[in-house]
Amino acid sequence: MRHPLEKVRNIGIIAHIDAGKSTITERILYYTGKKHKMGEVHDGEAEMDWMAQEKERGITITSAATTCFWGPKPSPEDIHQINIIDTPGHIDFTAEVQRSLRVLDGGVVVFDGVAGVEPQSETVWHQAEKFGVPLLAFVNKMDRTGANFYADIDSIHERLTKDAHPIQLPIGAEDKFKGVIDLFVRKAYIYEDELGEKIKEEAIPEDMKDKVEKYRGELVEAIAGHDDKLASQYLEGKDIPVDELKKVLHKAVVEVKIVPVLCGSALKNKGVQFLLDAICEYLPNPTEVPSVEGFHPKTKKKEERQARDDQPFAGLAFKIATDPFVGTLCYFRVYSGKLQSGSYVLNTSTGDKERVGRIVRMHANHRENVEEVYAGDIAAIVGLKNTSTGHTLCDVGHPIVLESITFPEPVISVAIEPKTKADQEKMGLALTKLTQEDPTFRVKTDEETAQTIISGMGELHLEIIVDRMKREFKVGANIGKPQVAYKETIQAMAEAQGKYVHQSGGRGQYGDCWLRVEPKERGQGFEFDSEIKGGVIPKEFVSAIEKGVKEAMETGVLAGYPMVDMSVTVYDGSYHEVDSSEIAFKIAANRALNAVTKLAKPVILEPVMKIEVVTPEKFMGDVIGDLNSKRASISEMKDRGNMKVIDAMVPLAEMFGYATQLRSMSQGRASYSMEFDHYSPVPSKITEEIIEGKRK
Ligand code: GDP
Repeated sequence: MRHPLEKVRNIGIIAHIDAGKSTITERILYYTGKKHKMGEVHDGEAEMDWMAQEKERGITITSAATTCFWGPKPSPEDIHQINIIDTPGHIDFTAEVQRSLRVLDGGVVVFDGVAGVEPQSETVWHQAEKFGVPLLAFVNKMDRTGANFYADIDSIHERLTKDAHPIQLPIGAEDKFKGVIDLFVRKAYIYEDELGEKIKEEAIPEDMKDKVEKYRGELVEAIAGHDDKLASQYLEGKDIPVDELKKVLHKAVVEVKIVPVLCGSALKNKGVQFLLDAICEYLPNPTEVPSVEGFHPKTKKKEERQARDDQPFAGLAFKIATDPFVGTLCYFRVYSGKLQSGSYVLNTSTGDKERVGRIVRMHANHRENVEEVYAGDIAAIVGLKNTSTGHTLCDVGHPIVLESITFPEPVISVAIEPKTKADQEKMGLALTKLTQEDPTFRVKTDEETAQTIISGMGELHLEIIVDRMKREFKVGANIGKPQVAYKETIQAMAEAQGKYVHQSGGRGQYGDCWLRVEPKERGQGFEFDSEIKGGVIPKEFVSAIEKGVKEAMETGVLAGYPMVDMSVTVYDGSYHEVDSSEIAFKIAANRALNAVTKLAKPVILEPVMKIEVVTPEKFMGDVIGDLNSKRASISEMKDRGNMKVIDAMVPLAEMFGYATQLRSMSQGRASYSMEFDHYSPVPSKITEEIIEGKRK
């Protein structure tokens, strides 16, 4: 049975690590009736954290989706289907956050009532902005010592957006936090029992009346600003009915013009039901967001799909997960049309037709087999063989490629060595599975040492992968030290010849080409062109030259790191009627590229990270001195509350073990966040150290 599309919400709970996302998710699942026992996160029982090592670390790294149902307050019989797409909170997983943002229609950003806006909340907030995701804000942990809702609102206004408006106020704070006031209806709601199920409606406490009028006034003014009729009523000083205010607020939220702010304490079971009501009332349903666009794989013409069941099926695979019970699960969002289990889909990213074995929907505590899924739905397919994250799945007769998800390049690598022959086989399998699940994770073999090298987005990212390999796939392996993923490039134009001529009886070998290389801008990658005219070199050998060039680029001339950001043009050469072969031209191209890059001012590139350190003033001098010794360039220093904030760019190579150093430098008071920013040339002294192998 199809759940009415207007009653579907695809949402994500977006938060800085430790803000309480898992606890909120778990409470949502409890109140929506799908779960009967509350598990605390610190017991490792939260429903969404189902991977073993996630439980231990207490962080959520998967983007699995869970479905639940809720009837919001004014009319509880009006059941809404809420699909919660889990988004990770750790900065190492920004790619995962981005990927989940692509498939959700709205988000709840969680703040810690004590810490307010933290650096990583800022990062994810800006990502949500970039993808135009309508948001609600939830100030959690109102029960904690030091919780201050009004200071949090100020920090949201100052650092994120002026368009955030409370629709609730907390009653009491810290251990006196009792409930919330609904600004629309001017009523107080007091929580009376531990599980937060008995809620008493009361009049607003006397001492809060002024505050309520002040915030209500600001809220009404902001809402009225988005509707002509309400605006004139507001100016005339008329009382605007609550349902009209809510209707316009819904519209303003969907258009990302207002962010309603709620508050509560997930741990103490307060405020979660109101959050669920707000999700249903203000966040968009799948028909209210712009229809999805893509292109036809053959004609490249633009294609559009509306969120309607009568359109051809189109969906996006946003997560591949290995489930211990059913095998590989491919989580996907249906943008248009319907999909039946047992049918076939076209994967336009690979060109393969695949059979849809089973379709399942994940609930808090069980897996439901579904026959059919519809526009706007989120579910998982069991049994796809060749589908990875970011691939488009669609109707075989109506091909479309949806804009795929872009992922940053990995910046850190580590060598891994299987302990035994049996481990080697298991490791191969494990790595194939893990790369399929996670597009920011790469595997390659070092040509010289024959070692397996894995690369990812940060130290924690690789640690978790190694952990899963040992635990889920039972691979015994030795792990090297993490190393920076350096690259090489050129800084000047140059031309050179490469020749491979071999004559020793029988058929000889003959390949000869001239290559020109030119630098390209950072991040522009590799481009190959041919200016060969009049058959100076036959076509098949030109493509052999391209292959030879690509192979040679995998090991740069300086220190053997892959070469990037350059164009290579073959513009002359010669061939031999009998002796020329593809292999001869490949070798010639390889030699030519080595020769030409040596002439083109080669350099080593290193990843440079954007970091933000938040520290009490007392430790500011030490922190800055230390950053300077790390080749940092400091871009800004500012105040935030009573803390100092330092923004800087620092080479990743200098950042290993920084968490520990910073802690000991500041008696544990300073914190930092870091993300990849760009690749930049390494200074010459350090280049020498890298080449001599002194520095990894
Ligand atoms: P996540 O990393 O965002 O998923 O955060 P968790 O849900 O794992 O919560 C982090 C920690 O904060 C855990 O120890 C929770 O018990 C605690 N926590 C979560 N919500 C609240 C709250 O409302 N009040 C208090 N005092 N602690 C909370």
